[in-house]
Amino acid sequence: MPDIFCKIIKGEIPADKVYEDDFVLAFPDIHPIAPVHVLIIPKKHIKSINDLEDSDIETMGHMFLAAKKVAADLGIAEKGYKLLIRTGRDGGQEVPHIHMHLLGGARLREDIGPVR
Ligand code: AMP
Repeated sequence: MPDIFCKIIKGEIPADKVYEDDFVLAFPDIHPIAPVHVLIIPKKHIKSINDLEDSDIETMGHMFLAAKKVAADLGIAEKGYKLLIRTGRDGGQEVPHIHMHLLGGARLREDIGPVR
């Protein structure tokens, strides 16, 4: 079963692209948790950080450069932002396709901790 982000890459599910290159795509998160909340995903289906291979170095480099460009385009580069990649159950990953959350547009809380 293709994951939802593969469907966005194929154009089967709509998304408002804010950035695209040969390696990655970026679009707003459907349930934003910050004034700016963009997801950056590799076009190659890679399930999680645990599944990265040496040959994915260029792709992952493009993920970070895309984050830099999107942050600048959306006017949050100077004030700052957070990049978050969840991995697996304990990391809270819901979609089995690597995605980097770009979060900003306000001072963000630091309340990561164990679920009680
Ligand atoms: P994670 O919990 O890190 O796996 O994050 C998955 C994220 O994908 C969540 O923040 C969802 O709101 C987001 N999401 C799920 N489906 C879509 C979609 N069709 N378009 C945009 N964002 C989505």
